[in-house]
Amino acid sequence: MNVREAVQTFDEAQPSPLEHGPSLIERAARTASVAAAEADGVDRDASFPHKAFEAAREQRLLGVMIPVEFGGFGASIHDVTDICYTLGRACASTAMIYAMHQTKVACIIRHGHGIPWMETMMRRVARDQWLLASSTTEGQNGGNIRASAAAVDHAGDTVSLVRDATVISYGAQADGLVTIARRATEAAASDQVLLALAKDDYSLKQTQGWETLGMRGTCSTGFELKVDCPADRVFPEAYDKIHAQTMTPFAHLCWSSTWAGIAAASVTRAQAFVRKAARNSGGQMPPAAAHFTAAKMSLAKLRALIAANLDAFARAEHDERALSSLDFQSSITLLKVQASELAVETVMHAMRTAGLAGYRNDGEFTMGRHLRDVLSSPIMINNDRILANAATATLMSGIPTSLRD
Ligand SMILES: Cc1cc2nc3c(=O)[nH]c(=O)nc-3n(C[C@H](O)[C@H](O)[C@H](O)COP(=O)(O)OP(=O)(O)OC[C@H]3O[C@@H](n4cnc5c(N)ncnc54)[C@H](O)[C@@H]3O)c2cc1C
Repeated sequence: MNVREAVQTFDEAQPSPLEHGPSLIERAARTASVAAAEADGVDRDASFPHKAFEAAREQRLLGVMIPVEFGGFGASIHDVTDICYTLGRACASTAMIYAMHQTKVACIIRHGHGIPWMETMMRRVARDQWLLASSTTEGQNGGNIRASAAAVDHAGDTVSLVRDATVISYGAQADGLVTIARRATEAAASDQVLLALAKDDYSLKQTQGWETLGMRGTCSTGFELKVDCPADRVFPEAYDKIHAQTMTPFAHLCWSSTWAGIAAASVTRAQAFVRKAARNSGGQMPPAAAHFTAAKMSLAKLRALIAANLDAFARAEHDERALSSLDFQSSITLLKVQASELAVETVMHAMRTAGLAGYRNDGEFTMGRHLRDVLSSPIMINNDRILANAATATLMSGIPTSLRD
């Protein structure tokens, strides 16, 4: 019996706790209303969205994807991205933190099944609603996450690691951390492993602050990360496989859904602006109403793009060959580029719909926070870097011969 069959058999045998409680969408909506109320303060003070995460924990949203056998809800990628979208409409930082956490959880679920420590992590995420942070960016290496400088040092049953972690979102607030590193001191930069750590396994010394234009509540401070822990924190599977099968698909789908949520929130404000303007002028459309149509069109494109990639991932999720195919990998990699560009375009159209009322930082139609937040999307693993790396693969992949290919 393979992993998928084992999980499915267990899931079928155990009723999901969701059958007797609120649905995931209800849980997400309750959390989103708390996040929305806190969003302006989180943005103003660059503070972690504590109330939103208290609500998320109450709703047991942090462990939704954990299989039922380990105490979670066994939620799908469709469920999780829907939650990211719902939270993104309320507070971008809350949604992005949630998106990053779920990406780490997905790695543990898929690549940690059958490994006692990783199963303990799954139980802690489900039972104690642990929040997991991510450390991929290192030193001056920017978004080049397929090369690591810091190496895992092995000594008997323990390992250690010292990492210049330039950016770790909510590092100070997290209960655990997932990080990449070189396999060993003599390994090449691209020969990487992934580690799943509990808070006791590492220490953080702050090296940089987080005073940014947007996404201020992610508290993505720089740290010196020092790890000293049992060797079972290291995933046996090589990181390149985890990266292709789980890290990239989950990150790109969850991030894109978060950005789509921000875009949708700005379109909602633009719609309210147009309606009010039309009411106040006897039904006459405001001069920039065409921007509202453009905003709705680009939001529709963005949602369709995410939906197509979600369906493609759900189809390929348990098929290693399909997951590693050039077409799937190109599509899921470029999703990040396209989704971020479309999200920025949507918010720009929404803001131009409302003119000064959208541009100003006060009033019911302000879109400053949405614009500042969404502008993080093209630079979060820079689109230029992704496009430069994708050039050869794009050239090699075929051009579809029919519309439904
Ligand atoms: C909101 C937010 C939260 C984040 N949270 C985390 C986190 O929790 N953990 C974590 O590890 N990281 C995190 N990051 C960092 C992120 O994942 C990237 O590592 C980071 O955004 C890359 O930053 P950079 O622009 O300095 O680096 P680079 O990728 O080096 O880009 C720098 C510049 O070089 C250019 N460039 C780079 N390579 C190429 C190329 N091949 N061709 C052309 N131009 C190129 C780019 O256009 C860009 O202008 C976060 C980032 C953001 C925005």
